[in-house]
Amino acid sequence: AAKGAGPAHCRFFDDEMNSAASAKLQLENELRRAIGEGQLRLHFQPKVDASSGRMSGAEALVRWQHPRLGLLAPGQFIGLAEECGLIVALGDWVVGAAARHLKQWSNAGLDPVRVSVNLASPSFQQDDIAEKLADALRRVGISPRQLVLELTESLLMVDAERTIIRLQSLRERGFSLSLDDFGTGYSSLSYLKRFPIDELKIDRAFVTDVARGGKDAAIALSIIELGKQFGMRVVAEGIETREQSEFLLAHGCSIQQGFLFSRPLPLDRFEAVLAAGGRFDVGLSTATNSVG
Ligand code: C2E
Ligand code: MG
Ligand code: MG
Ligand code: MG
Repeated sequence: AAKGAGPAHCRFFDDEMNSAASAKLQLENELRRAIGEGQLRLHFQPKVDASSGRMSGAEALVRWQHPRLGLLAPGQFIGLAEECGLIVALGDWVVGAAARHLKQWSNAGLDPVRVSVNLASPSFQQDDIAEKLADALRRVGISPRQLVLELTESLLMVDAERTIIRLQSLRERGFSLSLDDFGTGYSSLSYLKRFPIDELKIDRAFVTDVARGGKDAAIALSIIELGKQFGMRVVAEGIETREQSEFLLAHGCSIQQGFLFSRPLPLDRFEAVLAAGGRFDVGLSTATNSVG
C-alpha cells in the first residue's frame, strides 16, 4: 500500500491542481461574458453626515450575479479580473452603470446624491482616462460633479509626476477625487501635499478600535487634522458601532460610512432610501436595524 501511495497521491494532487486551474479558467470565461450579458450589479452604501443623519453620498460597490454560484462579492472576482485583463472593461461598466442610475434618479425627481466609484490602477493608468470618463458621462447626460473617483495610494505612487497631471485633468473636468483606504498604503506626505485630492477615507483598520483611544485613535485623529490642514474632506469607513461614530464625530469627522448606518444595498432598496429622503436615525439604537 505504501508503495502505491506516492504516485497515487501525486496523481490526486495533479488532478486537484488541474481542476482548480480549470475552474479558474471557467470563471474567467464566465466573467468575460458576464460583463456583456448584464450579470454585474451595483450595490450602494450610503455615506451619512452623522451630525444630521442625512445621506451625503453613496459608494457604488460591484457585485456579480453568477448564474450558478449566486451573488459574488468583489473579493471573489476583482483579483481575477485584474489577472486576466478584464479590469478596465469592468471599470468601464461600473462607471456607465453608475451614470445611468444617476440619470434615472434625477429623471424620477429624486434628490441627487454624489456617487463614488472605485477605480482600479489599470483604469487610472490610461493616458486618456479623464477624457474617457467625461465622454462616458456625457453620453448619459450626467455631470462629472456627480461622480467621486476613489483611488488608492499605491495606484497614485506608480508614477507621481504623471499622476499629478492625470489628477489635475480629472479635476478640471469636474470629477471629485478621493483617496480610499488611506493610511494603509505607502504614499508619502510630500506627494500627498502635491496631489489635488478632495477627500481622504480613513481605513476601517484604524476605525475598529478608534474609541479605545490608543494608537489607532492617534492615527485617525492625525488623518482628520491632516485633511483639515490640506483642505480635504475626511470620511471614515467601516463604522459599525455608536461609540466609533460618536468618537469620530466629536473629533471633527462627521461623514461616515459603515454597517451602523447601512450595509451596501441592492438597487431597489437603495432607491427606497433615496425616495424616503435619505435620512438615518443616528443616536437611535434602531439605526442599526432599520436597514441591512
Ligand atoms: P472599499 O472600496 O474600501 O469598500 C469598502 C468595503 O468595506 C466594501 O466591501 C463594503 O461592503 C465594506 N464595508 C462597508 N462598511 C463596512 C463595515 O461597517 N464593516 C465591515 N466589516 N465592512 C464594511 P465590498 O463591497 O466587498 O468591496 C471590497 C473592495 O472591493 C472595495 O473596498 C474595493 O476595493 C473593491 N471594489 C468594490 N467595488 C469595486 C469596483 O466597482 N471596482 C473596483 N476596481 N474595485 C471594487
Ligand atoms: Mg472604496
Ligand atoms: Mg475603502
Ligand atoms: Mg477599505
